[in-house]
Amino acid sequence: MNSKHLLVAIAWCFWLGAGPAQAGEAYAIIDMHFHADRPDAEGPPGGKICAPYGEWAPRDPGKPIDVYLDWFTGNPPCKTVLTAPMEPDELRDRGIAILKRYKILALAGGTPETVEDYRSHAPDNIWSSVGFGDPDKFPSIESLRKLHAEGKLQAIGEITAQYAGIAPNDPRLEPYFALAEELDIPVGIHLGPGPPGTAYFATPGYRARAGDPFLLEEVLVRHPRLRVYAMHAGWPMGEAMIAMLYAHPQLYVDIGILDYAYPESDFYSYLKRFIDAGLEKRIMFGSDNMVWPDAIPIAIERIHKAPFLTARQKKLILHDNAARFLRIEG
Ligand SMILES: [Zn+2]
Repeated sequence: MNSKHLLVAIAWCFWLGAGPAQAGEAYAIIDMHFHADRPDAEGPPGGKICAPYGEWAPRDPGKPIDVYLDWFTGNPPCKTVLTAPMEPDELRDRGIAILKRYKILALAGGTPETVEDYRSHAPDNIWSSVGFGDPDKFPSIESLRKLHAEGKLQAIGEITAQYAGIAPNDPRLEPYFALAEELDIPVGIHLGPGPPGTAYFATPGYRARAGDPFLLEEVLVRHPRLRVYAMHAGWPMGEAMIAMLYAHPQLYVDIGILDYAYPESDFYSYLKRFIDAGLEKRIMFGSDNMVWPDAIPIAIERIHKAPFLTARQKKLILHDNAARFLRIEG
């Protein structure tokens, strides 16, 4: 690499990151949707994902599901294909290396054991969260209280109960919202998209309608001190999501998965709707990296490249809004 290339590379790095953290800020970026995952968390290890997909292809229900899965994750036809590491340590270490390189604070969700493994390897870059979704494996309230007392629970999320058809207003989730309000810790709940067709190959209980943002409304009213954010910004139900953000000023969203895997025209127009609606201070960066650590820089890059965002709005999304929501860094 000659010196000219080096300069370009340095400029590229600063441009890809949010630039150096401001005085008094330890982090340049806050990732509100980081998963502390093992390689088998999203199907067989080594799966692929497009960053981004160009379309959502049709499935012929007369053909084996494997034909569709080959398009989706086996051999997806797109320009940038991310391949998941096969080994748990490699997956963890690659994710952590990116957090450090880009000065990212990650709110890391997963099982308590995996989250603690990640956190212990990068205590300055990770806040611990517990995620769950399968009603047969919901954690006990007691176990969450214990983790919190031990300093190992700074948030609850990702709640992925939508994959079991369980909506935010389901009574089974009520104890967790009550606990989060009592402990004054944030909650992130999955609202919106799953892998296309997931009801036919991974999570039979998934229902799109259980991701309706309006189903969060009674929860907010019942728990007025709750700090909750809608993960994936309720895609594609932008109208309902905007109505909810407007009516409930304590509510935030993240843009996980949309920012690296969704077609550019759709991601940008969806994000722009929230900006145009005057909600620039309610949108938080999230990667939804899952088993693909390389998704994180791509998601950051797409924020930086968004032609309709000002430099100030990019910083709000990448850092400031989450810092305010988490009550850190001013
Ligand atoms: Zn999700």
